[in-house]
Amino acid sequence: MNILVINCGSSSLKYQLIESDTEQVLAKGLCERIGIDGSAITHQPKGGDKVTEEIPMKDHKDAVKLVIDKLTDKKVGVVDSLSEIDAVGHRVVHGGEKFASSVVIDDEVIKAIEECNDLAPLHNPANIIGINACAEVMPGVPMVAVFDTAFHQTMPKKAYLYGLPYEYYEKYKVRRYGFHGTSHDYVSDRAAKILGKDRKDLKIIVCHLGNGASISAVKNGQSVDTSMGLTPLEGLMMGTRSGDIDPAIVGFIAEKEGISSDEVVTILNKKSGVYGLSDGISSDFRDLATAAESGNAKAKDTLDAYAYKVAKYIGSYIVAMGGVDVIVFTAGVGENNMQVREAIAKYLEFLGVSFDKEKNKIRGEELILSKPGDKVTLMVVPTNEELAIARETVRLTAK
Ligand code: ADP
Repeated sequence: MNILVINCGSSSLKYQLIESDTEQVLAKGLCERIGIDGSAITHQPKGGDKVTEEIPMKDHKDAVKLVIDKLTDKKVGVVDSLSEIDAVGHRVVHGGEKFASSVVIDDEVIKAIEECNDLAPLHNPANIIGINACAEVMPGVPMVAVFDTAFHQTMPKKAYLYGLPYEYYEKYKVRRYGFHGTSHDYVSDRAAKILGKDRKDLKIIVCHLGNGASISAVKNGQSVDTSMGLTPLEGLMMGTRSGDIDPAIVGFIAEKEGISSDEVVTILNKKSGVYGLSDGISSDFRDLATAAESGNAKAKDTLDAYAYKVAKYIGSYIVAMGGVDVIVFTAGVGENNMQVREAIAKYLEFLGVSFDKEKNKIRGEELILSKPGDKVTLMVVPTNEELAIARETVRLTAK
């Protein structure tokens, strides 16, 4: 089957066309600045060059039409016609408590996703726009929603309830949901397979360290805890997001700076994290590593704090699961940044993880960083959320 995977943001749309038998990416691309001046599409067919073209796109429907044009184009296309696209898989950020797994999209599902809009006001409305645009441009093609939150719906109450008045949970569903679920699921499953084991027999900690970062405890194949919460702001310190802080800081800064709490939350989302702590050096870990290597103390302190916070979460999840068999790094930083991996691994020595510094120089590949015979396996597994979405779409739509 040819599966079109769509990840729709408020002004962007990322896509991949995946052939499900071979799991090959036939083409991929990105529409940017949808509905804004200067909209552009970048398209890359398998084995071909990436080409960016400025083309007006007034809305997401225009963007989907353009994606189909590219995929079926005589020169840069990879299929002859729309009829060769068998199904569409949509990434949907928030499924609330309604969705514990992926679903085939129908009107009721769209309504249920809309009901989760409050919980992810920046993401879910954009996801629905993408779903509606595809439904209009590709009528009759089955579509599946794959939720970032679904994998974490197995968390027990003790992990997902906050120490807040219970009525907020009852009235507003304020609780921990967790995100990056597609990645935590894919990576923990892949890690077990690489080790030739059944995920059901393992305690795995997945460190998804990208621009956004989260960590999860996967026990016997199920997520039992994760660091992101009601929103993707909680947990680890990230590129520009603060992660865990004392909640009283919000009111304190608002008063001192004479700004609203909304403005403080924007600062926590956009100007904090390693970007904020390094005093604006960069949110990109490559820049921070370069700055630290050339002796910049702020960059070094920031990377130290980052590794420390990741390690603290690992420690707490070892206790939560009563042990750990496998610790996995994934996403941009986890797959590529050797300084960060080494700094985190230093904290794991007491677990008997003997870290292979030579192997740690390898980037973006499946890799075992601990030594054979170590009690805990430390490894790298590149994430592939698009492939995971395509697999879910096949699972639910194949005849
Ligand atoms: P997201 O998907 O959350 O936007 P990514 O998973 O792409 O983020 O991660 C982005 C981060 O990955 C950046 O901080 C970047 O520095 C880091 N990264 C990506 N490639 C490399 C590389 N080759 N070496 C070191 N770090 C890298």
